[in-house]
Amino acid sequence: MPSNADLSEIVATIGRDMADHLGGGKVADYIPALARVDARRFGMAVITTDGEVAETGDAWIPFSIQSISKVFTLTMALERLGDDLWKRVGREPSGSRFNSIVQLEHEHGIPRNPFINAGAIVVTDALLAGRAPAAGIAEIRDYVRKLADVETIDIDTEVASSEAATGFRNQSLANFMRGFGNLNSPVDDVLKVYFNQCSLRITCRQLARAGLFLAGAGTDPISGDVVTTSKRARRIAAVMMTCGHYDASGEFAFHVGLPGKSGVGGGILAIVPGKASIAVWSPGLDEAGTSYVGAMALKRLAAATRWSVF
Ligand code: GLN
Repeated sequence: MPSNADLSEIVATIGRDMADHLGGGKVADYIPALARVDARRFGMAVITTDGEVAETGDAWIPFSIQSISKVFTLTMALERLGDDLWKRVGREPSGSRFNSIVQLEHEHGIPRNPFINAGAIVVTDALLAGRAPAAGIAEIRDYVRKLADVETIDIDTEVASSEAATGFRNQSLANFMRGFGNLNSPVDDVLKVYFNQCSLRITCRQLARAGLFLAGAGTDPISGDVVTTSKRARRIAAVMMTCGHYDASGEFAFHVGLPGKSGVGGGILAIVPGKASIAVWSPGLDEAGTSYVGAMALKRLAAATRWSVF
């Protein structure tokens, strides 16, 4: 474990080094409201289990959480349903893009894992369980607020509307699964919640804080709150490692070696079990929808701290 001074220096150096790469990758444009973000942004925040924070760049600017929200909804759903959740969604890497439909027919509407869109939509349905969409949205928002210890985290309604207006693939996935009996609430209700959870606005600082319970074996090391059991925290981290970056999860494990979850808003949450929670943000994406500069920064951080779990 680097000392706090060393960690601050490592993070500051990464911030300086990333300046040469800003604007790399391609901003997600299939959600029009995301395409308007400044591609040259970069932020990183690291919070250790003893509460030390190191950050650089735009760590204070809110961005769209997108698929990183799936880590929090998975945790909520496991707490609520326990292992029964695994009857409706698998935990194998898909090797396919995040919005692919190809495996769903062969696998009878049971998505490969909770991080591809189909799997996350099932998790959202499991959480909704008969509630009105507005109540489901508020529960997820409040859960993230509590974990981040920030009451002002909210949903960017413009992004949510933009997703709804262009979410044809997600509608296909949801209808297909409903056809297989793996979605209980009406498709429009489930997608409304899903689009809103993806549209939460959060900063690197807040996101790193919200993920800290996973570094603390399920217990938030600062508040002492038991968010989940240590066994579940380990399993959530395992799914992040194997499935967190879709068809590029192997690449991320190879280069960074930490459980992580990307979002097409350009954020990545990475966990160092027992040690730290890290959030990076830079909007340009690689082919798999992972932040290009963000992943580069995490690779440098993992190398400098020797934090890879391998
Ligand atoms: N809201 C996005 C979608 O459903 C999330 C995708 C992502 O971040 N990978 O397409």
